[in-house]
Amino acid sequence: MMYISSSSSSSGRTFETRDPRTGDVIASVAEGDKDDVDLAVRAARKAFDHGEWPRISGSERGRILTRFADLVEQHADELAALESLDAGKHPAVTKAVDVGNAAGSLRYFAGAADKIHGETLKMQGQFQGYTLREPLGVAGFIIPWNFPTTMFAIKVAPALAAGCTMVVKPAEQTPLSALYLADLAKKAGIPDGVINVVPGFGPTAGAAIASHMDVDTVSFTGSTEVGRLIMEASARSNLKPVSLELGGKSPLIIFEDADLDMAVELAISANLFNKGEACVAASRVYVQEGIYDQFEKKLAERMKSWVVGDPFNDPRVNQGPQVDKVQYDRVLSYIDQGKREGATVLTGGRPLGQNGYYIEPTVFTNVKEDMTIAKEEIFGPVMCLMKFKTVDEAIERANDTKYGLGAGVVTRDLDVANRVVRSVRAGVVWVNCYFAMGSDVPFGGRKMSGFGKDEGMHALDKFLAVKSVVTPLKGSPW
Ligand code: NAD
Repeated sequence: MMYISSSSSSSGRTFETRDPRTGDVIASVAEGDKDDVDLAVRAARKAFDHGEWPRISGSERGRILTRFADLVEQHADELAALESLDAGKHPAVTKAVDVGNAAGSLRYFAGAADKIHGETLKMQGQFQGYTLREPLGVAGFIIPWNFPTTMFAIKVAPALAAGCTMVVKPAEQTPLSALYLADLAKKAGIPDGVINVVPGFGPTAGAAIASHMDVDTVSFTGSTEVGRLIMEASARSNLKPVSLELGGKSPLIIFEDADLDMAVELAISANLFNKGEACVAASRVYVQEGIYDQFEKKLAERMKSWVVGDPFNDPRVNQGPQVDKVQYDRVLSYIDQGKREGATVLTGGRPLGQNGYYIEPTVFTNVKEDMTIAKEEIFGPVMCLMKFKTVDEAIERANDTKYGLGAGVVTRDLDVANRVVRSVRAGVVWVNCYFAMGSDVPFGGRKMSGFGKDEGMHALDKFLAVKSVVTPLKGSPW
């Protein structure tokens, strides 16, 4: 066991983070709570009100962000190992995807930092106006455990580019990468007080950020239930703007003109990537009736070569353990509920092995829209396969959910693809692909999947206040 803490918490308490492959303790981490959040906010406030970060030029902030991105890339192996150990991920995939996206996002917003500017306004009469886009102040981030490195970067990068200072609370299941990244940020030259990481639990440290009177905005990613609490906390405290990236029950619609092999692979990766622990997982797969039987057969066949196991010790492994015991029990209870409600298990359906939190990838058929497994986010390796007849029916069923995060459509017919794209109420629609993301692609949902965008230039808006300035325009003929 090692003890990780850049400083101890006010209470002196620590909590353990565990290896999902075995349940063994990896490290003890300082447990921050309300008092630590107060200290962190005070440091961030001081750095914002009196420090250099909001005051230096955008290009200087960009230069430091680029250095941060370089350091993330230089330490990609360590970060990937740390993250994979803490979250049960595949180190090679984590290096390419999680760490790669983190560096990409820091680089993207490094480039954006000196392109933040307002407008000149002609106005009527003897006045002229212009707008300033000023950094909002102290940002609070509450992040989840499924992509901790990427989440850290995509949250802090636009806030840093905008000139904000911040307090970050990583998920209690996976606090290690945030501490490591904060250290890299310091090495990159981000001044003290600009990024403050407070590891700890949701109802204590997280809630303290959400209700803090001196936090100017909160960006949250996690469950819809907690998202609601974040909004309530804002309403009860200082009415800070919040942005929420919440759960999903995203549809993948496969039409009968699709390339069958490609569609099967897409359905698998759209459900099982990151062990199904992805907010945008396509957990409702709709297949058109003409190819349904073939699709089901091919899928069942293909699942036989899907390898679940220790992602550190076997390069053939496709799927590691769920993040912790709570998620493991949660996913298994959804699987039981699916069986009880009458869905058929096509593949999987059971836990795997004696040690750790492994679950067989599970495909349900004969799923009805009103079954719990078709309605609620499971956040694990569980796919619901359903049959449809017409384009209109597919669109209607795809939209029949409280969520609106992602959607996918697989077809060779451009008109059909466009109809689905225009009709599905979701934050992102993938055509003949899934999960393809980029630092320049806005990401965030609608309906009960939340609001506000991470990534892309829209993400900057969350950290900038628009100020209108009006001056007299005397004696000018124009
Ligand atoms: P969660 O929403 O409870 O946790 C996410 C973050 O919020 C963590 O940092 C947590 O400490 C914090 N938090 C928890 N309670 C809080 C509170 N009262 N105030 C402020 N912050 C609080 O998610 P979870 O319990 O870890 O997972 C439960 C479900 O949430 C999952 O099964 C999944 O459905 C969903 N989830 C979604 C995402 C996503 O990317 N959208 C990520 C993780 C989990």
